[in-house]
Amino acid sequence: MSETSATGKPASDMGLVVVGAAGRMGQTLVRAIHTIPGARVIGAVERADSPHLGKDAGELAGIGIINVPISDDPLPVFAKADGVLDFTTPASSVEFAGYAAQARIVHVIGTTGCSAEDNAKIAAAARHATIVKSGNMSLGVNLLAVLVEQAARALDADDFDIEILEMHHKHKVDAPSGTALLLGEAAAAGRGIALAGNDVRSRDGHTGVRKTGSIGFATLRGGSVVGDHSVILAGTGERITLSHHAEDRAIFARGAVKAALWARGKKPGLYSMRDVLGLS
Ligand code: NAD
Repeated sequence: MSETSATGKPASDMGLVVVGAAGRMGQTLVRAIHTIPGARVIGAVERADSPHLGKDAGELAGIGIINVPISDDPLPVFAKADGVLDFTTPASSVEFAGYAAQARIVHVIGTTGCSAEDNAKIAAAARHATIVKSGNMSLGVNLLAVLVEQAARALDADDFDIEILEMHHKHKVDAPSGTALLLGEAAAAGRGIALAGNDVRSRDGHTGVRKTGSIGFATLRGGSVVGDHSVILAGTGERITLSHHAEDRAIFARGAVKAALWARGKKPGLYSMRDVLGLS
C-alpha cells in the first residue's frame, strides 16, 4: 500500500494491477501506465484458462519486459496494490469489486454491459473501495455527455426526438454500448426523466409511430471501429447531431489511469468519470 509524505502528497508511484491484462484494453492500459508519471504496473491478472498466464505483461503489450508476470490469482497482487484497472466482464468486475473492498484500494471499472444487479453489488463494494465506474473513460465523451444534457434540456420533447446511434468493432459483445447508455442517461437527465422505461433499444417489424419523449438506440457492429457515437436531436425541419469518434483505445486507458490517480486517497464511494474530470 502507498505511503503519504509530510506534505500530504503520495510519497511513491501508485502501484496498479491490470486485470484482463491480455485483452484489447488490458494491453492498452499496460502501455498507457508505462508513459504516465506517478503510476506503475505492479500486477497483471488474467482468466485461469488464459493462454497468456506466466507471460510478462509488458512484453505482451509490446513495451518490453517489465518483470510483471500475468497471474490468475488476484488476491496476492491486490494485497500489495494501490489500485486496480478493470476492463473485463460484468461477472469478473463484480468479483474484483469485492476483492478491492477487502483490500480497501481504488478500483477503476471500465467494463460495460453490467446489469442492475451487477451495479447494485458494485455499489455495495463501494462502501469500502474507492470505485470509479464509467461506460467511457475519455474526456471527449464525458464532455459530450454534458453537451447532450444541455441540449436535451433546451429542446422540448414535443419538438425534438432523441436518437443515439453507435458503431463498434465486430468483437464487441454487449449492445447498446456503455457509452450509448451513458449518453442516453445524460439525455434523460436533461429531460428530467429516467432512461429506464423511456428507452427504445431496438425496432423491428410494425412498431407503430414513435412515442413522444422516448430515447431511441441503434447499434452497428463491424470491422475494427474503436467507437463512434452520435446523438441526434431531430425536430421538424431541422436536426442537430452531436458526435464523438474514438480513433485509439489509448484515450480510454489514459482516462482510466487519470481516474486511478484522482481516486487515490479519496474516501470510499462510487464515483464517475464526470467527477474525475470536474464536469459533474
Ligand atoms: P477483451 O475481450 O479484448 O478483453 C477482456 C479481457 O478480460 C480478456 O483478455 C479476458 O480474458 C479477460 N478476463 C475476463 N474475465 C476475467 C477474469 N475473471 N479475470 C481476469 N481476466 C479476465 O475486451 P476489451 O475490448 O478489452 O473490452 C473489455 C471491456 O471494456 C468491455 O466491457 C468493453 O465494452 C469495455 N470498454 C470500456 C471502455 C470505457 O472507456 N469504459 C472502453 C473500451 C472498452
